[in-house]
Amino acid sequence: MTIMVLGSINTDITSYGQSLPRAGETVFGSRYEIDLGGKGANQAAAVARLGAAVEFVGRTGKDMFGELSTDRLARFGVSTGHCSLDEAEGTGIAMISVDAQGQNLITVVPGANMRIGESELRQVLPVLGQCKVLMLQLEVPLATSLAAARAAGERGIKVVLDPAPAHADGLPLEFYGAVDVITPNETETEALLGYLPATVEDGRRAARELVAKGARAAVVKLGARGAYAVGVGTDGFIPAFSVKAVSSVAAGDCFNAGLAVALSEGKSLAEAARFAAACGALCTTKAGSAASAPTRAEVEALLAG
Ligand code: ADP
Repeated sequence: MTIMVLGSINTDITSYGQSLPRAGETVFGSRYEIDLGGKGANQAAAVARLGAAVEFVGRTGKDMFGELSTDRLARFGVSTGHCSLDEAEGTGIAMISVDAQGQNLITVVPGANMRIGESELRQVLPVLGQCKVLMLQLEVPLATSLAAARAAGERGIKVVLDPAPAHADGLPLEFYGAVDVITPNETETEALLGYLPATVEDGRRAARELVAKGARAAVVKLGARGAYAVGVGTDGFIPAFSVKAVSSVAAGDCFNAGLAVALSEGKSLAEAARFAAACGALCTTKAGSAASAPTRAEVEALLAG
């Protein structure tokens, strides 16, 4: 195992129709899809697509959605032996409605994801030493993620934290000190620092401030503009690769997967961020979340120009 992801796994149920319902209204849709979701699962799937050995640690309910999502994750090539079943809560669900303009309404019921805790940590600690990078996000209890980050740090394993989704009250200062690379997008940067990085210069300022808070490095994701990386000897802008984008869904997850894979191979932060930018860009050329993650060959081809 090269990479461990401790995070969320959901089932996404997406309906498509002409319009979105208002409160109290019922509308008819034209079709629906049931898919793997959750930032943890999506990032693990994207890592597997890149060909790296990845272990997912998470929790589902004892229900059909848990079986469905864990099975889909395994079919990406992710190792799911440490994915446990919760006795009390159901599998996390995202109910998504999309209208003809592409606007959406989303309700997430985290369910079993919010019960990841001691038992996962007990499972993780003995095998953590075998991996090179631990990937975390903010869709499971913060205390569990922080404990895992600290344990990884003690073992010399790099911790990549995607502070997503944005939490209104930011991130506890003690978490920054347990992180090797923090990777907020624009809205997450606003939640952490109080301003949206509207320019590349803002991205540089934000990345520097995140390092000043205690992270060893920060890569601020700036959507179609690119990303700004600061830390461990790097201070530079990574322009976005020019691609024909059709959907930005999961671009950040693919970016993080690329970053983790490249860091696990010993690449510098600057090189890893460029590899990650290629992954993020390729993801936007296809619709879907985990399904739009690029392969290693596609990434190498884009990097080779
Ligand atoms: P998130 O999905 O978390 O909101 P972003 O939208 O910032 O993250 O995308 C992550 C990264 O993916 C960006 O930093 C950039 O490198 C790449 N990316 C995103 N959108 C595009 C695009 N339209 N063209 C090329 N690269 C993109």
